[in-house]
Amino acid sequence: MKSPQYHGVDSHVGNTPLIRLRRLSELTGCEILGKAEWMNPGGSVKDRAALGIVSDAEEKGLLKPGATIVEGTAGNTGIGLTIIGHARGYRSVIVIPETQSPEKIALLRTLGAEVITVPEKPYSDPGNYNHVARRLAEEKGWFWANQFDNTANLLAHYRTTGPEIWSQTQGTVTAFVASVGTGGTLAGTARHLKERNPLIAIACADPYGAAMWSWFARGNTDMKDGDSFAEGIGQCRVTKNLEGLVVEHAYRIPDQEALTIVYQLLREEGVFLGLSSGINVAGAVRLARERGPGQVIVTILCDSGAKYQSKLFNPEWLATKGLRTDLPIEAVLG
Ligand code: PMP
Repeated sequence: MKSPQYHGVDSHVGNTPLIRLRRLSELTGCEILGKAEWMNPGGSVKDRAALGIVSDAEEKGLLKPGATIVEGTAGNTGIGLTIIGHARGYRSVIVIPETQSPEKIALLRTLGAEVITVPEKPYSDPGNYNHVARRLAEEKGWFWANQFDNTANLLAHYRTTGPEIWSQTQGTVTAFVASVGTGGTLAGTARHLKERNPLIAIACADPYGAAMWSWFARGNTDMKDGDSFAEGIGQCRVTKNLEGLVVEHAYRIPDQEALTIVYQLLREEGVFLGLSSGINVAGAVRLARERGPGQVIVTILCDSGAKYQSKLFNPEWLATKGLRTDLPIEAVLG
């Protein structure tokens, strides 16, 4: 008999379970299914992008043993890069806006990243975290992961997330919904699913304060009014990962709708998630309502609520933001 093959943690990114969200499936007459991305080694969907970017750079000879990887990130990509970096022999330097959750910043330090916090600035400002990371790479000769415009990011989803969804649903998936940070998840997964079956509908779920709804629904990035506390998403420009992507539907999701879903999934189904996952699931419900019963709709459960305990699961913080946890799910679903 052939002896079993065992591998390190960098070989165990992806292949996450596809979880049925019972209550919302029953309410819509669809199968609403979530990819349990918090089960990745670094606890988020961004482990896929981190592994894809590192492997691509290794293949291109851009990463030599002992090299330093620098990245601007809302946290999860940095966590993924740090873990993959340890497994493959690289050091990581992470530039993160100071507005991101203290849990993610503390976790990055505990994992051994060098963490540089910067004030939150728009992309047009040279002080924006991405530009700080790029300049550090240029000055120090470090490798800049550049997740927003490095298409190794979307290719990771094209090669893993898409095929997993296709095989886990045995080809019955009818729609895929995701929000956009870099756009890697939405664009890469959509590309694979469309190749398998062009009738699969693709939808973008956008928070307020971002321009992706405006981009997909109206063809410009002009409308980005409002605000959201969802971390890791909320894009205002068309990144290289998003270029050429066409979607059938785009939805704007208020934070209260996403938060009520996050609490419903925790209290009634034991699924503990952050707010971007709530936005994604809300998008899946909108799509279920728009296209009707009988569909198999897949979305992404990006990361765990544990990364946001001091905010989303802290009654004082919620009260200061006017967000409620006592609303029944039916009250927020339009
Ligand atoms: N949710 C969370 C919590 C994230 O950290 C990210 C990545 N920034 C996303 C969603 C969006 O993923 P993508 O970058 O692939 O668009």
